Amino acid sequence: MFPAALAALLCPSCAAPFDARPPAGGTHGAPPEPATPGEVPEPAALSGQALVCREGHSFDRARQGYINLLTGAGTAFVPDTAAMVAARDEFLQAGHYQPLAEAIAARAAAGLQPEGLPPEGPRPEGPRPEGLVVDAGTGTGYYLRALLDRAPAATASIGLDLSKFALRRAARTNPDTLNLVWDLWRPLPLAAACADVILVVFAPRNPAEFARILRPGGTLLVVTPLPGHLAEIAIGVGLLGIQADKQEMLVASLAGSFLLAQEEDVNYTLRLDHADVARLALMGPAGHHVAADAVAARVQSLPEVSEVSASFRISAFTPVPVPPVAARRRPGQEPRSVSGRANGRPPGPPAASGT
Ligand SMILES: [Zn+2]
Repeated sequence: MFPAALAALLCPSCAAPFDARPPAGGTHGAPPEPATPGEVPEPAALSGQALVCREGHSFDRARQGYINLLTGAGTAFVPDTAAMVAARDEFLQAGHYQPLAEAIAARAAAGLQPEGLPPEGPRPEGPRPEGLVVDAGTGTGYYLRALLDRAPAATASIGLDLSKFALRRAARTNPDTLNLVWDLWRPLPLAAACADVILVVFAPRNPAEFARILRPGGTLLVVTPLPGHLAEIAIGVGLLGIQADKQEMLVASLAGSFLLAQEEDVNYTLRLDHADVARLALMGPAGHHVAADAVAARVQSLPEVSEVSASFRISAFTPVPVPPVAARRRPGQEPRSVSGRANGRPPGPPAASGT
């Protein structure tokens, strides 16, 4: 699974692939040799504890199993802290969001059916693992794990997150996933049209890059909380409020690149004790602004067990079809209207300097 996912990866410094095959005249992006059945080869690109691109840029693989592609690039955003990640992991492992995870997995499994690919649509160019799921903002890997367990057609997976604390856990939960430290606001280090499903659970959205890496007929799954989510305890424990027009903003933010195909709401009641509520308050964005002892004091005013609404929406989007004129262009021609969409490279490689 891990070598398969490597075929979709592009070096953030030079946009070269990581397949370790020597450059052959003009066949940039030739697919790697198929593995012998039953044998999982260690690709030469993954030499020792580093991932090395065709041009020689090297990225360290952490002892815990994730790879930091953001080396030297810096970011304007604050990654989730160790305490936030620990709170989230404990909360999720208690099973409170399992119904959501199962609904996401079922929706993703539907998106991985081969009939999702339109028969007359443009074909992806370059290397492309079959059944690739890209989890944008994978966190501790909890939702991706549920998806991989329930969707056998997901044969390769990539998890992106800004927090190395989150990726340590993700790498343990999903050892066959290519877990990468990356900033979702930057051009993604992935080939055009490589992904069958993109999963975005409570994470930042990069519509232009999602449109570039999703294959024609693929599925973008975005999970957002609905306004009633956690309403009973939100004010009492200082959770950030949920905007009433969040769904309209979501659809508007993706307009032009994606069409809303389906929506599914997931509503149920959580039974949360004080420790659960404290973890909830610390695990999300509010965790950047509150102290654990302040949260612990606030939850004392709640009943021993609170009944709390869980309310989510899973929105499935499909890419806006590329106009036929762009689909029929000759190799080497630039697409007319969708910049960077079909040339296999991120538009304008970021100034990352993997050394
Ligand atoms: Zn490179």
